[in-house]
Amino acid sequence: MKNYDFIVIGGGIVGLATARQLQLQFNNASVLILEKELRLATHQTGRNSGIIHAGVYYAPRSLKAQFCRAGNIETKAYCNEHGIPFKNTGKLLVATDETDKQNMHDLLERCRLNEIETEILDQKQLNDMEPNVTGVAATWVPSTGIVDYAEVTKKLAEQVVAAEGKIQTNCRVTGLHEAQNIEVSTTQGYFHGRFLVSCAGLHSDRIIQMLGQKPDFKILPFRGEYFQLPGAKSDIVTHPIYPIPNPDLPFLGIHLTPMIDGSLTVGPNATLALAREGYSRWSINLRDMVDMFSYSGLYKLVMKYPQATLNELKNSLYRPGYLKLVNRYCQEVKLQDLLPFPSGVRAQAVRPDGTTLDDFVFVESERALIVGNAPSPAATSAMPIARHICEKVGNLLANQ
Ligand SMILES: Cc1cc2nc3c(=O)[nH]c(=O)nc-3n(C[C@H](O)[C@H](O)[C@H](O)COP(=O)(O)OP(=O)(O)OC[C@H]3O[C@@H](n4cnc5c(N)ncnc54)[C@H](O)[C@@H]3O)c2cc1C
Repeated sequence: MKNYDFIVIGGGIVGLATARQLQLQFNNASVLILEKELRLATHQTGRNSGIIHAGVYYAPRSLKAQFCRAGNIETKAYCNEHGIPFKNTGKLLVATDETDKQNMHDLLERCRLNEIETEILDQKQLNDMEPNVTGVAATWVPSTGIVDYAEVTKKLAEQVVAAEGKIQTNCRVTGLHEAQNIEVSTTQGYFHGRFLVSCAGLHSDRIIQMLGQKPDFKILPFRGEYFQLPGAKSDIVTHPIYPIPNPDLPFLGIHLTPMIDGSLTVGPNATLALAREGYSRWSINLRDMVDMFSYSGLYKLVMKYPQATLNELKNSLYRPGYLKLVNRYCQEVKLQDLLPFPSGVRAQAVRPDGTTLDDFVFVESERALIVGNAPSPAATSAMPIARHICEKVGNLLANQ
């Protein structure tokens, strides 16, 4: 049986960017990607807002702040080089009251520290730019863009295969054994590699357990529900419109997002899902539920944000509640405009004490590197994340 230089788990954007970078950095090393689904980008990568984030929100000097800023530039450059459609839309963060305005000024300070270009708009300037949006002020972020990350992943996959990488889909990793090399048990038999990199998104903690380690967090799935607006309303805004996020909450709030195909979506909210890949309210997975409801971190998280948890649940079940959040800054959206659109599920790493892991997290062993936490903006940041992984892999290999 062939012994690969590198085996990568996960056919999302982080896995593909990593596989490509491994080929580039380690002189066309042999690379095998294992993906449990029939096609790539089935989960978070193919079910997100498609924003090329600028890096507004992230703690200065965090990996998120660094990689997002670099990833914004690199994603656009990659799209330009390979003819992948994207748009430099910029984005507006809209303050609707005095509390928002105060939080907006805190965000602006963060942007300054993260060296992100912004401009403050007053009510009139906001109205001139977006006549259907109401607010007392706004922040304009010119470097935000939009893209379809599944298309970026597809192109990366083409490059991996062109450089003789192998992509095995419909192949779930079920066990790992680390000795002189890495033995990977899968639903399609055994594979051997010199080194393993895992980019398994919603299952990252389970891969760490397969290596015999005990992660100090668990992945909790948060479904983000979107709606699409009717075609006649797809141009009510021309830029992504975001609320000013509540600084105490991990998610960004429901936003209006022009998509690269010309449609306009609204979302996502953030409600606990009963399955890690549970895209409808009725999707249930017993293993995931036992895992989740036996975890102290879940209850501590809920106790930290009781009001937000209830509001999210209410607004998920009661559409007028969801609509109210959008109507705070755009009254043009009406109840009948909320047409069905596929939801996404975020992998949110939560510690046993209920705190959320905010930054990207990597877990190492002698022959493996696992991406433990890669939430938004990991799609924007995939290329810098891949370089970071390869640097770490290089160091680990040098010590063998
Ligand atoms: C609702 C939502 C909105 C978002 N919006 C944005 C945005 O606008 N901009 C942005 O930058 N980011 C956004 N994100 C975040 C971004 O989508 C993710 O951070 C990114 O896609 C993570 O990529 P990944 O490759 O790590 O994970 P995934 O895309 O989830 O890929 C992981 C892959 O691993 C596979 N896998 C898992 N376990 C196994 C196993 N045992 N064997 C084999 N294969 C396995 C899965 O099938 C999956 O295909 C959003 C996320 C969500 C959910």
